[in-house]
Amino acid sequence: MKALVYQGPGIKDWTDKPTPVIDKPTDAVIRLLHTTICGTDLHILKGDVPAVTPGRTLGHEGVGIVETVGSAIRNFKPGDHVLISCVTSCGSCANCRRQMYSHCADGGWILGHMIDGTQAEYVRIPHADNSLYPVPAGADEEALVMLSDILPTGFEIGVLAGKVKPGDSVVIVGAGPVGMAALLTAQFYSPAMLIAVDGDSNRLEVAKRFGATHVIDIKTENAIERIFELTNGIGVDVAIEAVGIPASFDTCQSVIAPGGHIANVGVHGKSVELHLEKLWIQNINISTGLVNTNTTPMLIKTVQAGKIDAGRLITHRFALNDILQAYEVFGNAAQEKAIKVILSQ
Ligand SMILES: [Zn+2]
Ligand SMILES: [Zn+2]
Repeated sequence: MKALVYQGPGIKDWTDKPTPVIDKPTDAVIRLLHTTICGTDLHILKGDVPAVTPGRTLGHEGVGIVETVGSAIRNFKPGDHVLISCVTSCGSCANCRRQMYSHCADGGWILGHMIDGTQAEYVRIPHADNSLYPVPAGADEEALVMLSDILPTGFEIGVLAGKVKPGDSVVIVGAGPVGMAALLTAQFYSPAMLIAVDGDSNRLEVAKRFGATHVIDIKTENAIERIFELTNGIGVDVAIEAVGIPASFDTCQSVIAPGGHIANVGVHGKSVELHLEKLWIQNINISTGLVNTNTTPMLIKTVQAGKIDAGRLITHRFALNDILQAYEVFGNAAQEKAIKVILSQ
């Protein structure tokens, strides 16, 4: 089969690899129908994630058809259409029993990281009973790919951890795919003000269409001043950090209102300066996290019911065979006006 293989920093190959087979009774092998590229894959390709070693197939998102199942699989059979969670979980270890699937003793984020991932014609999914979700009949399968990672990430680590409530003022710093996912799912809770901050004017236009009440372009405006203006000098109830650099975290801690929540979603490679000397007296909460995907069944229902239009995040479509071209486009997201690219076979 063909697979997108990491060959060391800066080097990737669309190349032949053995088709995966069942290794443990709890495995399933899936034939991919749709997959996508995540910002995390770009980090891996830069060499930022040393746990990923040369030879690894990338990708942790996708929808496919069950090809074969191990003898212990009870929930799925060959021919079933399934959504692949970016987080693999056994369902029975101490952390899984607390729904902390991202910290599963025999799983977590391993796809396209510790084991071969979904940017391939086939993928082996360990603990398939708990790591796959059935695709509802008639579902938009391309849109469901947004539920492998970005929608649960934006929702669980941004919106739920940030405790967005009706009437809240919310700022989302970073209007990339995960920021957009937080923007879409924050609207479950009817915040009064949803401010999107980014330096990409196209993404800010999209954010407006997705429900942002205000947008701030950091190329032309001072985000902190503008947020205080919009909130009558108080700051925001919830600040969702969806970039992963010191400057964006700093914006969040500068604009948080007393009693507010800073929800860090971004993947940080460098330490940030935490202004505890100002924050200690402000009754604020700071949360961090890796998605557990325990809300995936609920999110599937909201997408099915038309409560959120996940498919709107897809801007580009490619054949899986053209994945190198898709990487070019996603890697130049600003020029290409890309949010999510879909690869299909
Ligand atoms: Zn991802
Ligand atoms: Zn587990």
